[in-house]
Formats: sequence, C-alpha cells, structure tokens
Amino acid sequence: MSVPLESSWAIYRRMARYAVPHWRVIVAALVATTLFSAADVGFVAMMKPLLDGSFVQKDLTTIRWIPLAIIGLFLLRGVAGFGSGYGMQWVTQQIVAGLRRDMFARLVQLPVSYFDRNSTGTMLSRFNYHTGVIASALMVATYALREAMVFIGQLGLMFWLSWKLTVFVLVVGPPIAVTVRYVNKRIRGLGERIQSTAGRFAEALDETIKGQRVIKLHNAAKAEQAGFERILQDTRQLAVKVEATTLISGGITQLLAAFAVAGIVYFATLPEMLNEVSPGTFVAFLVALTTLMRPVKVLNSFNQQVQLGVTAAREVFAFLAEPVEPAGGGLRLQRARGHLEFEDIRHRYQADAPEALKGIRLTIRPGQTVAFVGKSGSGKTTLLSLLPRFYDPVAGRITLDGHDLRDYALNDLRAQIALVDQQVRLFNATIAENIAYALDPHPSEAQIIEAAQHAHAWEFIQKLPKGLHTEIGENGVQLSGGQRQRLAIARALLKNAPILILDEATSALDTESERHIQEAVEELVVGRTTLVIAHRLSTIQRADLIVVMQEGRIVESGRHEDLIAQAGVYASLHRMQFQE
Ligand code: ADP
Repeated sequence: MSVPLESSWAIYRRMARYAVPHWRVIVAALVATTLFSAADVGFVAMMKPLLDGSFVQKDLTTIRWIPLAIIGLFLLRGVAGFGSGYGMQWVTQQIVAGLRRDMFARLVQLPVSYFDRNSTGTMLSRFNYHTGVIASALMVATYALREAMVFIGQLGLMFWLSWKLTVFVLVVGPPIAVTVRYVNKRIRGLGERIQSTAGRFAEALDETIKGQRVIKLHNAAKAEQAGFERILQDTRQLAVKVEATTLISGGITQLLAAFAVAGIVYFATLPEMLNEVSPGTFVAFLVALTTLMRPVKVLNSFNQQVQLGVTAAREVFAFLAEPVEPAGGGLRLQRARGHLEFEDIRHRYQADAPEALKGIRLTIRPGQTVAFVGKSGSGKTTLLSLLPRFYDPVAGRITLDGHDLRDYALNDLRAQIALVDQQVRLFNATIAENIAYALDPHPSEAQIIEAAQHAHAWEFIQKLPKGLHTEIGENGVQLSGGQRQRLAIARALLKNAPILILDEATSALDTESERHIQEAVEELVVGRTTLVIAHRLSTIQRADLIVVMQEGRIVESGRHEDLIAQAGVYASLHRMQFQE
C-alpha cells in the first residue's frame, strides 16, 4: 500500500478529533470517574477510624457513623461507577460510529481499481474487526484513567498514613515497573501479527464461500481444508502466545508485589516503628497497597490494548486516506444527445500489465445501436467500462457530445448511462425498490408497473406472492437469471438514460426467457445510443454497426451483411455459431 503509516501521536490526534464533539459527555464522565475513585479511596481510608476508633478505643460516635458512611460511600461509588462507565461507552460508540460513517463514505467513493486490488474479506475486517479493536482499546483507556486516579488517591492516602512506610514501598516499587515494561514490549509485537492473521482468516472464508461451487467441482475440499488448517494453526498459536505472555506478566507482577508486602510487614514491625504505626494505620496502609495492585494490573494490560488499538486505527486511517475517484470537471450535463467519439484509446490495468486496448478509434452517432463482438479477453468490457469512467484510459480520449468525458461532472456523466450487465446486482429489498433503485424523484407505483410491463417482467412479478412488494433475498437468489435481467431492464427503462450499455448474458437462457428479453431489449434501445456486448450473433444482426475486436484492437466494423460479404473474422465467427 502506498499510503504512508502515521506515528502513534498522529493517530491519537486524529482519534481525538472524533471525540471532541462529545466533550460535554466526556467531562461529565470524568467527574463521575473522579467521584468513583474518591469513594474507592475513601473506603480504604475508613479502615483507620474503623479499627482504631470502633475496636481499639470503642468510641461510641465512631461506632455509629462508620456503618452509615460505608453505605453512603458505596451508594456514591455505584452511581458514579454507572455514570462513568455509561458515559465512556456512549462516547466510545459515538467515535466508532463516526469512524464507520467516514469509512463507508470513503468506500462508496473508491475507484473501481481499488476493488480490483483488495479482497472483500480485508475490507470487511476493517469495518468490523479493526473498529471493534479500537472500541475496546478506548474502553480500556477509560478504565485505565479511572484506575490511575485510584492509584494516585491510594498513594496519597499511604503518605498520609505513614510517609516512612510509603518511602519504603517506593524503593521496592521500581523493579516491578521495570519488569512490567519489559514484558509489555514483547506483547506489542505479537499484537500486530495477530491482526494480520485475522485478515487472512476472513479472506480465506470469503473465498471459500464464494468459490464453493468451484471447490465442489474440483473436489478440492481436502486441499482447501489443509490451507485453512494452516491459518487456524497460526491464529491459534499466536492467540495462545499472547495469552501466555499476559499471564506470565501478571504473575511476575504479583509475585514481586508479594515480596514488597512481606518487606513492609517486616519494616513496620521493627521496634522503633511499632509505636508510630497503630493497628488501624497498618491495616489501612496494607489495604491501600493491595488495592494499588489492581490499578497496576489494569495499567499493565492497558499498554497492550492501546497498542492493538493504535495498530487497528492505523489500518482504518490508511483506508480513509485511500484516494477517491476523481470528481470530474465542472461541465454540467442535463441530457446528452449521445454522440460518442473514441479517439485513439489505449488502456492497461497496471503499469506493468499488457495493454488491454491498443488504440481504439470509433464514432458512434446519437441513437445508434453498436454491437461489440470478439473472443473473450479481446477488450470489449474494458472499452465499455471507460464510458462511466470506472477507469480512465491511459492514453487517448473519449468525447460525449464533443466534450472529453473528464470535463463533465462525474455525477452528471453517470446519470446519462444505464447499464444492464451479466451480474445483475439486486439489493436485499422489494422488487419495486429494486426497479426504482436510487431514482430521484422516486417514481410512482404506476410508473414502476409500466416499466416492468415494457421489460416483460410484469408477467412473472404478478405471479409472485406479494407482487411488486415481494422481498427478494440477498442478491435476489430466488429469481432466475432471465428474470433478474428483465428487472435490470425495467430499472434501465425507468432511469431513462440516453446511453445504454448492455452486456448480454453468456449463459444460454431457455427460449422463452430469451424471447422475452429480446423483446424487452428492443423496447429499451429505442431512442438511445446503445452499446451491446453481444455473445449470440443472432441478436445483433439488426445493429447499426458491428465492431469486431481482437486483442485490444478493432479488426473489422460494418453492418452484418457487409461483414459477411467481407468474409473476414466476423464471417467466420458467424459460420462457427451456425454450425453449433
Ligand atoms: P472481454 O470483455 O472482451 O472478454 P476484457 O475487457 O474483460 O475482455 O479483458 C481484456 C483484457 O484485460 C484481458 O486480458 C483481461 O485479462 C484484462 N482485464 C480485464 N479486467 C481486468 C481487471 N479488472 N484488472 C486487470 N486486468 C483486467
């Protein structure tokens, strides 16, 4: 990927920008967090009057107020804890939604070439997994903040109870910190690797699900299983390794803390310390010290989580930095006449790939129907995908009504083109919504029905349980290829664009469907400049112009009769099809 990686600081700054609009909630949550920590420390501080006042001196007032104070403190702790957790989760979810919103906005603006280079699995994992990791890192960060407050409070309390004991603790503390740092460093590296295996995991599944027919036909289940097994192994081993390191780090931390506690007990019971340290002071001190370990543990895993989060955020921001499609020029276009000129068009998909188009010159006049024929791989699809600027040619230019396509506003240009192709994309919605997809203004039901009738789709729509309002499953699985294509034709009819791109289905349809589609297409092409990728030569004999392509070049063009008379490539293609 060409996008440069950002430093951790830059990542924090960018994340902060997503948080800033919610500063009020953040401040409220911080106040709640502070109260929560204060209640925590307050409870430990209460140990001293509890033991010294209630038990040792048996002071009556102390005996009465202590239980009430305990209930009060825990009420405060509960309410403040809820406010802090709720507020932080709310902000976290706002941030994640903000990221996902921006990612989606980017996703729909990425050029077609991006989708050629990146698998669906990788993109899905950015949306799900990486933002999820960011969310948990944010939550961990807020807990760490809370624990840091508790930590400072407890330390202050310890100084107040006995500064000598505290100084002693501060001397034995640093070795713990050093160990903790060392172990954390190791975990960081592992975290980055585990994320890359997550991408591989999703990718492998995605490929298997999409390619299940191929896998079945090739009896490749065993081989696929073996490949997946390797990914499983890697993921599993890495996850266990990360857990093991976390466990070891926790264990070492606590063991060292135990050494410290033993030392304190020894130090506090030295004869010269004994009259300075009351039982209440000592117990409160020890409780403060042991509750100090909880923040240490949280802060310990904090680093790991935040590093995971930063790595994930880096991926997300790299995605957000992907260049979007060029916006096009400033030339507005209401309705094109449909005059197209291809001026010496050359195209290649990658700098080092062979040329897919090697100098195409072609004039198409408004309202003409032009059929493109030629072997698979000869460049027909490539040529037509230049019209909606899915790709821009590497050299040469295409003009529409006399202006370079790149001069038009991209939205205006695309509004001129309707596309009916082989992989008809239907969305998980009703038939009516699919026909009227993204049309503005939304057509009336009568208009939708009219379009469906002209597309010869009304016959089968009528027979569906809920007619136009039948939900079609994901990607329209319950419809036949022919039916889907007729829906696409209805959609194109409603869009009523002056330019039509038709990619004929390669798969043979039954004669009934084929006749319907043929009739529907005949209605659709009237008054439009139509470019057809034709696979069955019988459907193009009436075309105004037939363009024969071979290896990225136009080798013949003319009307059917003329090309037959030429006895060239087209004539031999024609002969071959009729023999079949
Ligand atoms: P046709 O439509 O005539 O079958 P195409 O335009 O699909 O031909 O393909 C022309 C050439 O461009 C082929 O060599 C093909 O491999 C290559 N090609 C097509 N689409 C892509 C793509 N998205 N990325 C890279 N190469 C491509």
